[in-house]
Amino acid sequence: MRPSHAATRRCTLRLAATLLAAALANTPSLGAQSLPAALNRIREADIKRELYALAGDAMRGREAGTPDELRASAWIVDRLREIGVTPMGQDGTYYQWFNMTRTRVSTVSSFARLNNDTLAVWRDFIPLGNRGLDVSGPVLWLDNANDSTVNVQGRVVAVPVITPNRASIRTTVNSEDVRYANAALAATQQRFARRGALALILVADSITNAAFDGLASLRLRGTYDVNDAAPRFAGQPRYLAPLPPVLNVTTPVNGTPPAFLVRSSRAQLLRNAPQGSIQLRLEQFETPSVNIVGVIRGTDPVLRNEYVLYSAHQDHDGVRYVMDGDSVWAGADDNATGSVALLASARAFMAQKPKRSVLFVYHGAEERGLLGSRYHAQHPVVPLKDIVAVLNGEMMGRNSPDSASLLGVQPPHRNSTDLVEHALRANALTGRFALDSLWDRPTHPEGWYFRSDHVPYARLDVPSVMYTSNLHPDYHTPRDKPERIDYGKLTRMTRWMYLTGWFVANAPARPRIDPGFRLER
Ligand SMILES: [Zn+2]
Repeated sequence: MRPSHAATRRCTLRLAATLLAAALANTPSLGAQSLPAALNRIREADIKRELYALAGDAMRGREAGTPDELRASAWIVDRLREIGVTPMGQDGTYYQWFNMTRTRVSTVSSFARLNNDTLAVWRDFIPLGNRGLDVSGPVLWLDNANDSTVNVQGRVVAVPVITPNRASIRTTVNSEDVRYANAALAATQQRFARRGALALILVADSITNAAFDGLASLRLRGTYDVNDAAPRFAGQPRYLAPLPPVLNVTTPVNGTPPAFLVRSSRAQLLRNAPQGSIQLRLEQFETPSVNIVGVIRGTDPVLRNEYVLYSAHQDHDGVRYVMDGDSVWAGADDNATGSVALLASARAFMAQKPKRSVLFVYHGAEERGLLGSRYHAQHPVVPLKDIVAVLNGEMMGRNSPDSASLLGVQPPHRNSTDLVEHALRANALTGRFALDSLWDRPTHPEGWYFRSDHVPYARLDVPSVMYTSNLHPDYHTPRDKPERIDYGKLTRMTRWMYLTGWFVANAPARPRIDPGFRLER
């Protein structure tokens, strides 16, 4: 997925040159005298110390909806208080609480039976869908999912998973065997679209078998959402729909039939046409997550009522399955880097205050679907129209030291040329990164622009950019640890982000939204 280096460099430089020329034309004061003295308050030693604390094993991966996210949030609040940032959350605190709505398979009322054997969900079988249902019947064994000559209409079919096409296996996230298994399951299910089976029992091959517990640990978490929140996707409803009723599957469903994975050891029994039945029930409940919000008031009596919003997310993926002997998915790059960059920026803004106010928002539950930013964009602590820019820091400490990405820099993602100009000027003065523009393209296979907390704000026409050093092979694995961060690079990324906000906060005019901006993927 990583773009070719030469192509990256070429279009990066052309774009940067064009925009930088535009920026320089508007800003005659470019030079050392433009740099605030407080830039030196952004110190690598602070960044490194705080990152080791926030992404240490004691924080247990900061998973949203668990005490671990709350512990990390309280740790950040203590730092903001030390720095002198003013609380802007509920009841005079730094906390803006919201409830996530969580939907998951009920372990007490879901089970499967094969003749007289009872199978426990997650231990013996894994449901691959998200719907309460009942299905039963004699099992029809198929040797090969690619064989479409057998009539499976109205049957509960058991079949070994097929070997996935290499190109369909993701290159980042999770262990290799889990990535393989997800591709194998998707490919096998796809073979049964529109063939009329009632249900599929997929039998693991050796790699999927090795991935079984990992797959269970990922899927048992269910899904998370938040009610009354700004949309992430075009057309996403603002209010959550209630759970659909339990489905009694007696005739084939539209599309791909309900599917379940079992371990390879069940193959022998399934070949003997046992009577099979599966009962799946979902449960839905609310569970808290939290945004952390604070402000440094600006000095200008008028402009201080406008806000530059610095954004990061404090949550990560928690304690999951073991990879290389480690089960803590610590999220050092994702997103302790952005989180400590905000602390360092707050120190600099406290030392030298700008004209506009600076709002710091740590979004909870980003990893569960941008839930904290969707919630805050809908329920901002200051009027949304007074937020002049969102600067989102997300994964800023990996990959080669001299390149980075600014997302929201080119159409259709760019919503404010003014803001981009501030950011490019700041880069020229601090980070001096070669900007890799491929990751901001709508054609990029990762869709990177749409995967972080600036998106709900951008959709509401707040000028927004994201600072990132992009994906890497340790992304969303237990290998994303503090010792793998490039602290020199992270410090330069932080200075770049800080200086952009300094420019925006002191500029006579707020950044304008580009005419006709509309986010479509
Ligand atoms: Zn992240």
